[in-house]
Amino acid sequence: MKVPFIDILRYENGFYETVTAKTAELIKNGHFVGGPVVGLFETALKDWTKTKFALGCANGTDAIQLALRAAGVEKNDKVLLPDMTFWATFESIVNVGAVPYVIDVSKETLHLTLASVKEGVEKFKPKALILVHLYGWACPETLEIRKYCKDENVTLIEDCAQAIGTKIKGESLLANALVATTSFYPAKVLGASGDAGAVFTTEQKIADTTKILLNHGRISHYEHGLIGWNSRLGAYEANFMLESLKHLDAKLVSRRHACDEYRKKIKNPIIKMIGPSADVWENGYLSVGLMTPETRPAFCEYLKANDIGFGNIYPGAMSMQPGANGHLGGKITHGHADWIANSVVNFPAFAYISQAEIDYVVEKINAYKA
Ligand SMILES: *Cc1c(COP(=O)(O)O)cnc(C)c1O
Repeated sequence: MKVPFIDILRYENGFYETVTAKTAELIKNGHFVGGPVVGLFETALKDWTKTKFALGCANGTDAIQLALRAAGVEKNDKVLLPDMTFWATFESIVNVGAVPYVIDVSKETLHLTLASVKEGVEKFKPKALILVHLYGWACPETLEIRKYCKDENVTLIEDCAQAIGTKIKGESLLANALVATTSFYPAKVLGASGDAGAVFTTEQKIADTTKILLNHGRISHYEHGLIGWNSRLGAYEANFMLESLKHLDAKLVSRRHACDEYRKKIKNPIIKMIGPSADVWENGYLSVGLMTPETRPAFCEYLKANDIGFGNIYPGAMSMQPGANGHLGGKITHGHADWIANSVVNFPAFAYISQAEIDYVVEKINAYKA
């Protein structure tokens, strides 16, 4: 058997036919940019995520840049971020003219802690913090960090590129964030037929500014109130996701099942399967195992030899990227992100993975001897 790390082509019955028929309609009607389907998708997305405002844009990186700008982050402002995230989080801060300050994550939860945020805020006095929720989980101390940032006047932006559908204390993680962003890159939990992203907020003013920024700063067709750019969501992507959203609950059930199975059934002591904290409901984006920098390389070779796809998400800390040179304002690191980068391994957990595939992965992992 061969199990890929990810297979995005397991469409639901009838999905392909419906989407292509609707795309043909868009072409016939000349609805390429904008048009009714974008509005329909934004409304469906707002309802599904239980958010107050949901605005589609070109990709997940733009979503972070829009959120930073709309929430008032300006040139030379200091912005904190975790040392373990995808590079887009770091890039976005630099791209809006602000300065990234990196703080370390926990070796146990792989996320920021309230204590690490406090230390970063006290030391660097930042304007904003980007809290990143990885693996389809939520940072365990999200609610505490939200309260702390509010009390300390630190603008909190949440990068939920991997956390659509994730719940904390029974509520949609996206619903109560001041401003949150997501990505609809095809490999994400809700994937588009190309690049796309969204900004979510509880504030009318942030929603209004986001809408203006993503369409050339337009306040009317040829009147430009701000320096924005073009980050409009395309009609094909909106159409594809509007249809896919109808199956999102089923996708999450399948992904969560795979993650649960690995946590329950992988018994090889060389690997420690971990998951979100007790009050977090994961969306099943990634299955996460921790090894050590010493044990991981040979194990990954073994997976390759057995045709099991895997990920190392992410294989490098932000503060150690060559591109951080000359941009990083400061850091508080204890080497945790670097350790995680060299110890983490992710197993196949895509939507509609079969039980036979899961069983094969479990069996091979349990049979591994270092
Ligand atoms: C995917 C991802 C992004 C970037 O999204 P794009 O749509 O690829 O621009 C940003 N942050 C995190 C944590 C991601 O996983």
